[in-house]
Amino acid sequence: MVTKGDMLYAWSTDDAIREAGETGGTITALLKFALESGMVDAVYAVRKGIDLYDAQPVLITDPKEVISTAGSLHMGTLLVPKLLRRCVTSADPNMKIAVVLKGCDVMAAYEMAKRNQLNLDNLIMIGVNCGGSVRPAVARKMIKEKFGIDPDTVVKEEIDKGQFIVETADGQHKGISMDELEEEGYGRRSNCRRCKMKVPRQADLACGNWGVIGDKAGNATFVEVTSEKGANLMNAAAQGGAIKTEAAPAKGIEIRGKVENAMLKLGDKWREKYFKSMGTGKDRLQLIMDQTSRCIRCYSCIENCPVCYCVECSTKKPYLVPPGEIPPNFMFHLIRFAHISDSCVNCGQCEELCPVEIENSRFMHAIQTDLESMFGYVPGVDMTLPVLALVEEPTERERLTATGSDQIFDIFK
Ligand code: FAD
Ligand code: SF4
Ligand code: SF4
Ligand code: SF4
Repeated sequence: MVTKGDMLYAWSTDDAIREAGETGGTITALLKFALESGMVDAVYAVRKGIDLYDAQPVLITDPKEVISTAGSLHMGTLLVPKLLRRCVTSADPNMKIAVVLKGCDVMAAYEMAKRNQLNLDNLIMIGVNCGGSVRPAVARKMIKEKFGIDPDTVVKEEIDKGQFIVETADGQHKGISMDELEEEGYGRRSNCRRCKMKVPRQADLACGNWGVIGDKAGNATFVEVTSEKGANLMNAAAQGGAIKTEAAPAKGIEIRGKVENAMLKLGDKWREKYFKSMGTGKDRLQLIMDQTSRCIRCYSCIENCPVCYCVECSTKKPYLVPPGEIPPNFMFHLIRFAHISDSCVNCGQCEELCPVEIENSRFMHAIQTDLESMFGYVPGVDMTLPVLALVEEPTERERLTATGSDQIFDIFK
Protein backbone atom coordinates (compact mmCIF):
# COMPACT_ATOMS: atom_id res chain seq x y z
CA MET A 1 0.00 0.00 0.00
CA VAL A 2 1.24 3.44 -0.95
CA THR A 3 1.01 6.07 1.79
CA LYS A 4 1.63 9.80 2.07
CA GLY A 5 5.37 10.50 2.06
CA ASP A 6 6.29 7.58 -0.20
CA MET A 7 8.71 8.12 -3.07
CA LEU A 8 8.13 5.84 -6.03
CA TYR A 9 9.04 5.05 -9.57
CA ALA A 10 5.84 4.54 -11.57
CA TRP A 11 4.91 3.86 -15.17
CA SER A 12 1.82 3.18 -17.23
CA THR A 13 0.97 -0.43 -18.08
CA ASP A 14 -0.47 0.70 -21.43
CA ASP A 15 2.09 0.64 -24.30
CA ALA A 16 0.50 3.54 -26.18
CA ILE A 17 0.39 5.76 -23.08
CA ARG A 18 4.00 4.89 -22.18
CA GLU A 19 5.06 5.78 -25.72
CA ALA A 20 3.15 9.09 -25.76
CA GLY A 21 4.03 10.05 -22.16
CA GLU A 22 7.03 12.13 -21.21
CA THR A 23 8.67 9.74 -18.75
CA GLY A 24 6.56 6.61 -18.47
CA GLY A 25 3.11 8.12 -18.92
CA THR A 26 2.18 7.79 -15.24
CA ILE A 27 0.25 11.06 -15.17
CA THR A 28 -1.76 10.19 -18.26
CA ALA A 29 -2.51 6.73 -16.86
CA LEU A 30 -3.62 8.27 -13.54
CA LEU A 31 -5.86 10.82 -15.25
CA LYS A 32 -7.46 8.17 -17.45
CA PHE A 33 -7.99 5.84 -14.50
CA ALA A 34 -9.50 8.60 -12.33
CA LEU A 35 -12.00 9.40 -15.10
CA GLU A 36 -12.85 5.80 -16.03
CA SER A 37 -13.34 4.75 -12.42
CA GLY A 38 -15.62 7.70 -11.64
CA MET A 39 -13.24 9.23 -9.07
CA VAL A 40 -13.63 12.47 -11.08
CA ASP A 41 -16.13 13.84 -13.59
CA ALA A 42 -13.49 15.37 -15.84
CA VAL A 43 -9.80 15.85 -16.48
CA TYR A 44 -8.23 19.27 -17.10
CA ALA A 45 -4.83 19.24 -18.78
CA VAL A 46 -2.99 20.76 -21.73
CA ARG A 47 -2.29 19.26 -25.11
CA LYS A 48 -0.36 20.18 -28.21
CA GLY A 49 -2.39 22.40 -30.55
CA ILE A 50 -1.25 23.18 -34.09
CA ASP A 51 2.40 22.71 -33.12
CA LEU A 52 4.54 22.35 -29.99
CA TYR A 53 4.59 26.13 -29.46
CA ASP A 54 0.81 25.98 -28.95
CA ALA A 55 -0.26 24.53 -25.58
CA GLN A 56 -4.02 24.26 -25.40
CA PRO A 57 -5.96 23.75 -22.17
CA VAL A 58 -8.70 21.13 -22.46
CA LEU A 59 -11.53 19.75 -20.30
CA ILE A 60 -11.98 16.06 -21.06
CA THR A 61 -14.88 13.82 -20.07
CA ASP A 62 -14.20 10.91 -22.45
CA PRO A 63 -11.37 8.66 -21.10
CA LYS A 64 -10.32 7.78 -24.68
CA GLU A 65 -9.28 11.43 -25.23
CA VAL A 66 -6.93 11.61 -22.24
CA ILE A 67 -3.96 10.23 -24.20
CA SER A 68 -4.00 13.37 -26.38
CA THR A 69 -2.64 15.31 -23.37
CA ALA A 70 0.43 13.09 -22.79
CA GLY A 71 3.88 14.69 -22.90
CA SER A 72 5.44 17.90 -21.53
CA LEU A 73 5.14 21.19 -23.39
CA HIS A 74 8.00 23.41 -22.22
CA MET A 75 6.61 26.29 -24.27
CA GLY A 76 3.32 25.91 -22.39
CA THR A 77 3.49 29.05 -20.27
CA LEU A 78 -0.25 29.19 -19.60
CA LEU A 79 -1.61 29.47 -16.04
CA VAL A 80 -3.88 26.46 -15.65
CA PRO A 81 -6.09 27.26 -12.57
CA LYS A 82 -7.38 30.61 -13.86
CA LEU A 83 -8.33 28.94 -17.15
CA LEU A 84 -9.87 26.03 -15.25
CA ARG A 85 -12.01 28.41 -13.21
CA ARG A 86 -13.32 30.12 -16.36
CA CYS A 87 -14.07 26.73 -17.86
CA VAL A 88 -15.83 25.14 -14.87
CA THR A 89 -17.79 28.28 -13.98
CA SER A 90 -19.47 28.05 -17.37
CA ALA A 91 -19.77 24.22 -17.22
CA ASP A 92 -20.47 23.05 -13.65
CA PRO A 93 -18.73 24.67 -10.64
CA ASN A 94 -19.19 21.48 -8.56
CA MET A 95 -17.47 19.15 -11.02
CA LYS A 96 -14.81 16.86 -9.54
CA ILE A 97 -11.71 17.31 -11.65
CA ALA A 98 -8.23 15.79 -11.89
CA VAL A 99 -5.88 18.55 -13.01
CA VAL A 100 -2.18 18.72 -13.91
CA LEU A 101 -0.36 21.71 -12.44
CA LYS A 102 3.15 23.18 -12.56
CA GLY A 103 4.56 24.77 -9.39
CA CYS A 104 3.18 28.23 -10.14
CA ASP A 105 -0.16 26.65 -11.08
CA VAL A 106 -0.42 24.90 -7.72
CA MET A 107 0.48 28.11 -5.88
CA ALA A 108 -2.14 30.00 -7.89
CA ALA A 109 -4.73 27.31 -7.11
CA TYR A 110 -4.17 27.84 -3.37
CA GLU A 111 -4.40 31.64 -3.62
CA MET A 112 -7.59 31.29 -5.69
CA ALA A 113 -9.05 28.81 -3.19
CA LYS A 114 -8.48 31.32 -0.37
CA ARG A 115 -10.56 33.80 -2.37
CA ASN A 116 -13.33 31.25 -3.02
CA GLN A 117 -12.46 31.08 -6.71
CA LEU A 118 -11.71 27.35 -6.63
CA ASN A 119 -12.73 24.56 -4.27
CA LEU A 120 -9.71 22.33 -3.66
CA ASP A 121 -12.00 19.59 -2.27
CA ASN A 122 -13.24 19.12 -5.85
CA LEU A 123 -9.74 18.77 -7.29
CA ILE A 124 -7.14 16.04 -7.47
CA MET A 125 -4.00 18.09 -8.06
CA ILE A 126 -1.28 16.23 -9.94
CA GLY A 127 1.78 18.44 -9.67
CA VAL A 128 4.76 18.35 -12.01
CA ASN A 129 8.28 19.28 -10.97
CA CYS A 130 9.24 22.27 -13.02
CA GLY A 131 12.61 23.57 -14.20
CA GLY A 132 10.91 26.31 -16.20
CA SER A 133 9.09 27.18 -19.38
CA VAL A 134 10.00 29.25 -22.43
CA ARG A 135 7.80 31.83 -24.15
CA PRO A 136 6.79 30.47 -27.56
CA ALA A 137 8.02 33.58 -29.41
CA VAL A 138 11.38 33.45 -27.59
CA ALA A 139 11.66 29.72 -28.31
CA ARG A 140 11.13 30.27 -32.03
CA LYS A 141 13.74 33.06 -32.12
CA MET A 142 16.20 31.00 -30.05
CA ILE A 143 15.83 27.89 -32.21
CA LYS A 144 16.34 29.94 -35.37
CA GLU A 145 19.21 32.13 -34.20
CA LYS A 146 21.11 29.95 -31.70
CA PHE A 147 20.37 26.45 -32.97
CA GLY A 148 20.39 27.40 -36.66
CA ILE A 149 17.23 25.33 -37.14
CA ASP A 150 13.89 26.29 -38.71
CA PRO A 151 11.52 26.32 -35.69
CA ASP A 152 8.70 24.88 -37.82
CA THR A 153 10.70 21.68 -38.42
CA VAL A 154 11.06 20.89 -34.69
CA VAL A 155 8.99 17.86 -33.65
CA LYS A 156 10.28 17.33 -30.13
CA GLU A 157 11.85 19.49 -27.43
CA GLU A 158 13.02 18.71 -23.92
CA ILE A 159 15.00 20.21 -21.08
CA ASP A 160 17.47 17.63 -19.79
CA LYS A 161 20.61 17.89 -17.65
CA GLY A 162 20.65 21.68 -17.94
CA GLN A 163 20.31 21.66 -21.73
CA PHE A 164 17.49 22.75 -24.02
CA ILE A 165 17.32 20.02 -26.66
CA VAL A 166 15.44 20.03 -29.95
CA GLU A 167 14.83 17.29 -32.50
CA THR A 168 13.67 17.85 -36.08
CA ALA A 169 11.55 15.71 -38.38
CA ASP A 170 14.66 14.77 -40.41
CA GLY A 171 16.52 13.50 -37.33
CA GLN A 172 18.66 16.51 -36.36
CA HIS A 173 19.27 16.53 -32.60
CA LYS A 174 20.89 19.51 -30.91
CA GLY A 175 21.24 20.69 -27.31
CA ILE A 176 22.61 23.94 -25.90
CA SER A 177 23.22 24.69 -22.23
CA MET A 178 20.43 26.73 -20.58
CA ASP A 179 23.05 28.89 -18.82
CA GLU A 180 24.56 29.90 -22.15
CA LEU A 181 21.13 30.58 -23.67
CA GLU A 182 20.00 32.64 -20.68
CA GLU A 183 23.17 34.71 -20.50
CA GLU A 184 22.35 35.74 -24.08
CA GLY A 185 18.73 36.66 -23.28
CA TYR A 186 17.07 33.46 -24.55
CA GLY A 187 15.79 30.56 -22.48
CA ARG A 188 13.24 30.46 -19.68
CA ARG A 189 10.90 33.29 -18.74
CA SER A 190 12.31 35.69 -16.17
CA ASN A 191 9.77 34.57 -13.54
CA CYS A 192 10.81 30.93 -14.12
CA ARG A 193 14.45 31.86 -13.50
CA ARG A 194 13.44 33.36 -10.16
CA CYS A 195 11.04 30.51 -9.30
CA LYS A 196 11.69 28.32 -6.27
CA MET A 197 8.62 26.06 -6.50
CA LYS A 198 10.50 23.20 -8.12
CA VAL A 199 8.71 20.23 -6.51
CA PRO A 200 5.08 21.18 -5.74
CA ARG A 201 4.57 19.23 -2.51
CA GLN A 202 1.33 21.07 -1.69
CA ALA A 203 -0.31 19.23 -4.62
CA ASP A 204 -1.62 15.67 -4.09
CA LEU A 205 1.25 14.12 -6.05
CA ALA A 206 4.54 15.61 -7.24
CA CYS A 207 5.72 13.95 -10.48
CA GLY A 208 8.93 14.41 -12.41
CA ASN A 209 12.02 12.86 -13.88
CA TRP A 210 14.68 14.09 -11.45
CA GLY A 211 16.08 11.08 -9.60
CA VAL A 212 15.02 8.40 -12.07
CA ILE A 213 18.23 6.45 -12.69
CA GLY A 214 19.50 3.22 -14.27
CA ASP A 215 17.35 1.35 -16.77
CA LYS A 216 14.29 3.29 -15.61
CA ALA A 217 15.74 6.68 -16.67
CA GLY A 218 13.36 8.20 -19.21
CA ASN A 219 10.90 5.30 -18.81
CA ALA A 220 9.46 5.93 -15.36
CA THR A 221 8.07 8.88 -13.44
CA PHE A 222 9.40 9.82 -10.02
CA VAL A 223 6.28 10.26 -7.88
CA GLU A 224 6.37 11.82 -4.42
CA VAL A 225 3.08 11.04 -2.68
CA THR A 226 2.20 14.28 -0.92
CA SER A 227 -1.35 13.74 0.39
CA GLU A 228 -3.85 11.04 1.37
CA LYS A 229 -5.85 11.91 -1.76
CA GLY A 230 -2.75 11.31 -3.86
CA ALA A 231 -2.06 8.01 -2.08
CA ASN A 232 -5.66 6.86 -2.73
CA LEU A 233 -5.35 7.58 -6.43
CA MET A 234 -2.00 5.75 -6.68
CA ASN A 235 -3.37 2.71 -4.81
CA ALA A 236 -6.58 2.55 -6.81
CA ALA A 237 -4.74 2.96 -10.13
CA ALA A 238 -2.23 0.24 -9.20
CA GLN A 239 -5.00 -2.13 -8.08
CA GLY A 240 -6.97 -1.32 -11.24
CA GLY A 241 -3.93 -2.29 -13.33
CA ALA A 242 -3.35 1.19 -14.84
CA ILE A 243 0.14 1.73 -13.39
CA LYS A 244 3.02 -0.23 -11.91
CA THR A 245 5.20 1.09 -9.13
CA GLU A 246 8.35 0.29 -7.19
CA ALA A 247 10.12 2.10 -4.36
CA ALA A 248 12.58 4.74 -5.60
CA PRO A 249 16.18 3.69 -4.81
CA ALA A 250 18.14 5.65 -2.19
CA LYS A 251 20.61 6.86 -4.85
CA GLY A 252 17.75 8.21 -6.98
CA ILE A 253 16.26 10.06 -4.01
CA GLU A 254 19.68 11.54 -3.22
CA ILE A 255 20.22 12.72 -6.81
CA ARG A 256 16.74 14.23 -6.94
CA GLY A 257 17.46 16.17 -3.72
CA LYS A 258 20.75 17.46 -5.12
CA VAL A 259 19.16 18.65 -8.37
CA GLU A 260 16.34 20.34 -6.48
CA ASN A 261 18.83 22.15 -4.23
CA ALA A 262 20.91 23.26 -7.21
CA MET A 263 17.74 24.66 -8.82
CA LEU A 264 16.82 26.52 -5.63
CA LYS A 265 20.29 28.10 -5.51
CA LEU A 266 19.94 29.09 -9.15
CA GLY A 267 16.58 30.71 -8.29
CA ASP A 268 18.27 32.72 -5.53
CA LYS A 269 21.00 33.82 -7.92
CA TRP A 270 18.48 35.09 -10.46
CA ARG A 271 16.41 36.82 -7.74
CA GLU A 272 19.45 38.71 -6.60
CA LYS A 273 20.28 39.72 -10.15
CA TYR A 274 16.74 40.85 -11.04
CA PHE A 275 15.94 42.59 -7.76
CA LYS A 276 19.31 44.23 -7.10
CA SER A 277 19.31 45.89 -10.50
CA MET A 278 15.96 47.54 -9.58
CA GLY A 279 17.70 49.65 -6.94
CA THR A 280 15.90 50.56 -3.72
CA GLY A 281 13.54 53.25 -2.40
CA LYS A 282 12.96 56.18 -4.76
CA ASP A 283 15.22 54.71 -7.48
CA ARG A 284 13.07 51.58 -7.57
CA LEU A 285 9.88 53.65 -7.63
CA GLN A 286 11.24 55.77 -10.49
CA LEU A 287 12.10 52.65 -12.52
CA ILE A 288 8.57 51.33 -12.05
CA MET A 289 7.04 54.71 -12.92
CA ASP A 290 9.18 55.00 -16.04
CA GLN A 291 8.30 51.54 -17.34
CA THR A 292 4.60 51.74 -16.50
CA SER A 293 4.38 55.08 -18.33
CA ARG A 294 3.96 53.03 -21.52
CA CYS A 295 0.88 51.21 -20.15
CA ILE A 296 -2.08 51.22 -22.57
CA ARG A 297 -4.59 50.22 -19.86
CA CYS A 298 -5.62 47.01 -21.59
CA TYR A 299 -6.35 45.21 -18.25
CA SER A 300 -4.58 42.04 -19.41
CA CYS A 301 -2.40 42.01 -16.26
CA ILE A 302 -5.55 42.15 -14.15
CA GLU A 303 -7.63 39.64 -16.09
CA ASN A 304 -4.91 37.01 -16.12
CA CYS A 305 -3.65 37.35 -12.55
CA PRO A 306 -4.79 34.50 -10.32
CA VAL A 307 -4.84 36.78 -7.30
CA CYS A 308 -7.00 39.52 -8.91
CA TYR A 309 -10.62 38.47 -8.61
CA CYS A 310 -12.75 41.46 -7.62
CA VAL A 311 -15.95 41.87 -9.59
CA GLU A 312 -15.76 45.63 -9.13
CA CYS A 313 -12.09 46.35 -9.79
CA SER A 314 -10.86 49.45 -7.96
CA THR A 315 -8.78 50.48 -10.98
CA LYS A 316 -12.12 51.16 -12.71
CA LYS A 317 -13.35 53.59 -10.04
CA PRO A 318 -13.22 57.07 -11.61
CA TYR A 319 -12.41 58.72 -8.26
CA LEU A 320 -9.30 56.51 -7.93
CA VAL A 321 -8.06 56.39 -11.53
CA PRO A 322 -9.37 59.14 -13.84
CA PRO A 323 -11.08 57.50 -16.83
CA GLY A 324 -10.05 58.02 -20.44
CA GLU A 325 -6.35 58.68 -19.78
CA ILE A 326 -3.60 56.70 -21.47
CA PRO A 327 -1.23 55.97 -19.89
CA PRO A 328 -3.42 55.69 -16.81
CA ASN A 329 -2.54 57.63 -13.70
CA PHE A 330 0.16 55.78 -11.72
CA MET A 331 -2.57 55.04 -9.14
CA PHE A 332 -3.69 52.25 -11.53
CA HIS A 333 -0.48 50.34 -10.79
CA LEU A 334 -0.33 51.39 -7.14
CA ILE A 335 -3.75 49.82 -6.57
CA ARG A 336 -2.48 46.53 -7.93
CA PHE A 337 0.67 46.65 -5.83
CA ALA A 338 -1.40 47.45 -2.72
CA HIS A 339 -4.07 44.81 -3.35
CA ILE A 340 -2.11 41.77 -4.37
CA SER A 341 1.64 42.07 -3.85
CA ASP A 342 1.56 40.07 -0.60
CA SER A 343 0.03 37.11 -2.47
CA CYS A 344 1.83 37.24 -5.83
CA VAL A 345 2.88 33.72 -6.84
CA ASN A 346 5.34 34.88 -9.54
CA CYS A 347 3.42 33.10 -12.30
CA GLY A 348 4.56 35.68 -14.87
CA GLN A 349 1.21 36.13 -16.62
CA CYS A 350 1.04 39.90 -16.02
CA GLU A 351 4.39 40.34 -17.74
CA GLU A 352 4.16 37.79 -20.52
CA LEU A 353 0.70 38.94 -21.61
CA CYS A 354 1.42 42.67 -21.33
CA PRO A 355 1.33 43.99 -24.92
CA VAL A 356 3.93 46.69 -24.16
CA GLU A 357 6.28 44.37 -22.28
CA ILE A 358 6.26 46.06 -18.90
CA GLU A 359 8.12 43.90 -16.36
CA ASN A 360 5.06 43.69 -14.12
CA SER A 361 5.93 40.32 -12.66
CA ARG A 362 9.48 41.36 -11.76
CA PHE A 363 8.14 44.43 -9.93
CA MET A 364 5.36 42.57 -8.10
CA HIS A 365 7.61 39.64 -7.17
CA ALA A 366 10.26 42.02 -5.78
CA ILE A 367 7.64 43.62 -3.52
CA GLN A 368 6.24 40.21 -2.54
CA THR A 369 9.63 38.92 -1.40
CA ASP A 370 10.18 42.10 0.65
CA LEU A 371 6.74 41.70 2.27
CA GLU A 372 7.44 38.02 2.94
CA SER A 373 10.61 38.88 4.80
CA MET A 374 8.76 41.59 6.79
CA PHE A 375 5.51 39.77 7.66
CA GLY A 376 6.33 36.09 7.08
CA TYR A 377 3.39 35.39 4.77
CA VAL A 378 4.37 32.83 2.10
CA PRO A 379 1.81 32.70 -0.72
CA GLY A 380 0.67 29.53 -2.48
CA VAL A 381 1.93 26.89 -0.09
CA ASP A 382 -1.10 26.23 2.12
CA MET A 383 -4.48 27.72 3.05
CA THR A 384 -3.10 30.32 5.49
CA LEU A 385 -4.70 33.68 4.72
CA PRO A 386 -2.57 36.69 3.81
CA VAL A 387 -2.30 39.37 6.45
CA LEU A 388 -4.99 41.64 5.01
CA ALA A 389 -7.27 39.10 3.30
CA LEU A 390 -9.68 38.86 6.16
CA VAL A 391 -12.76 39.98 4.26
CA GLU A 392 -14.77 38.64 1.33
CA GLU A 393 -15.57 40.99 -1.51
CA PRO A 394 -19.42 40.81 -1.47
CA THR A 395 -19.57 41.28 2.33
CA GLU A 396 -17.06 44.10 2.13
CA ARG A 397 -18.99 45.83 -0.68
CA GLU A 398 -22.15 45.65 1.44
CA ARG A 399 -20.29 47.15 4.38
CA LEU A 400 -18.90 49.92 2.19
CA THR A 401 -22.37 50.79 0.89
CA ALA A 402 -23.91 50.68 4.36
CA THR A 403 -21.23 52.73 6.12
CA GLY A 404 -19.79 54.80 3.29
CA SER A 405 -16.33 53.95 4.62
CA ASP A 406 -13.67 52.25 2.56
CA GLN A 407 -11.41 51.67 5.53
CA ILE A 408 -11.16 47.97 6.38
CA PHE A 409 -9.18 48.85 9.49
CA ASP A 410 -9.69 52.40 10.75
CA ILE A 411 -6.07 53.36 11.25
CA PHE A 412 -7.02 56.90 12.38
CA LYS A 413 -8.98 55.80 15.47
P1 FAD B 1 2.68 12.39 -19.01
O1 FAD B 1 1.87 11.17 -18.87
O2 FAD B 1 3.42 12.63 -20.25
O3 FAD B 1 1.72 13.64 -18.70
C1 FAD B 1 2.22 14.92 -18.70
C2 FAD B 1 1.13 15.85 -18.23
O4 FAD B 1 1.67 17.18 -18.15
C3 FAD B 1 -0.03 15.91 -19.18
O5 FAD B 1 -1.22 15.74 -18.46
C4 FAD B 1 0.03 17.31 -19.78
O6 FAD B 1 -1.26 17.85 -20.02
C5 FAD B 1 0.74 18.09 -18.69
N1 FAD B 1 1.47 19.23 -19.21
C6 FAD B 1 2.32 19.25 -20.27
N2 FAD B 1 2.81 20.47 -20.45
C7 FAD B 1 2.25 21.25 -19.51
C8 FAD B 1 2.36 22.63 -19.19
N3 FAD B 1 3.17 23.41 -19.86
N4 FAD B 1 1.65 23.12 -18.15
C9 FAD B 1 0.83 22.29 -17.42
N5 FAD B 1 0.69 20.97 -17.68
C10 FAD B 1 1.40 20.47 -18.70
N6 FAD B 1 10.33 17.23 -14.16
C11 FAD B 1 11.52 17.22 -13.53
O7 FAD B 1 11.82 16.28 -12.79
N7 FAD B 1 12.40 18.27 -13.70
C12 FAD B 1 12.10 19.36 -14.48
O8 FAD B 1 12.91 20.28 -14.60
C13 FAD B 1 10.83 19.41 -15.11
N8 FAD B 1 10.47 20.50 -15.84
C14 FAD B 1 9.20 20.54 -16.39
C15 FAD B 1 8.80 21.70 -17.07
C16 FAD B 1 7.53 21.77 -17.62
C17 FAD B 1 7.08 23.04 -18.30
C18 FAD B 1 6.64 20.67 -17.52
C19 FAD B 1 5.26 20.72 -18.12
C20 FAD B 1 7.05 19.50 -16.86
C21 FAD B 1 8.32 19.43 -16.28
N9 FAD B 1 8.76 18.31 -15.57
C22 FAD B 1 9.97 18.30 -14.95
C23 FAD B 1 7.87 17.12 -15.44
C24 FAD B 1 8.19 16.06 -16.50
O9 FAD B 1 8.44 16.65 -17.75
C25 FAD B 1 6.99 15.10 -16.67
O10 FAD B 1 5.79 15.83 -16.80
C26 FAD B 1 6.86 14.19 -15.48
O11 FAD B 1 8.03 13.42 -15.35
C27 FAD B 1 5.65 13.26 -15.64
O12 FAD B 1 5.87 12.41 -16.71
P2 FAD B 1 4.72 11.45 -17.21
O13 FAD B 1 5.25 10.61 -18.32
O14 FAD B 1 4.14 10.76 -16.03
O15 FAD B 1 3.67 12.51 -17.75
FE1 SF4 C 1 7.74 26.28 -13.71
FE2 SF4 C 1 8.14 28.04 -11.75
FE3 SF4 C 1 8.13 28.80 -14.31
FE4 SF4 C 1 5.88 28.09 -13.14
S1 SF4 C 1 7.15 29.87 -12.61
S2 SF4 C 1 6.54 27.49 -15.19
S3 SF4 C 1 6.62 26.45 -11.80
S4 SF4 C 1 9.61 27.44 -13.31
FE1 SF4 D 1 1.20 36.25 -11.47
FE2 SF4 D 1 1.66 38.83 -11.98
FE3 SF4 D 1 -0.43 38.10 -10.51
FE4 SF4 D 1 2.05 37.87 -9.53
S1 SF4 D 1 0.99 39.76 -10.07
S2 SF4 D 1 0.41 36.35 -9.37
S3 SF4 D 1 3.19 37.31 -11.37
S4 SF4 D 1 -0.09 37.64 -12.69
FE1 SF4 E 1 -0.91 48.21 -18.74
FE2 SF4 E 1 0.47 46.09 -19.55
FE3 SF4 E 1 -1.36 45.85 -17.60
FE4 SF4 E 1 -2.11 46.25 -20.13
S1 SF4 E 1 -1.04 44.44 -19.31
S2 SF4 E 1 -2.91 47.31 -18.30
S3 SF4 E 1 -0.49 47.62 -20.85
S4 SF4 E 1 0.56 47.05 -17.51
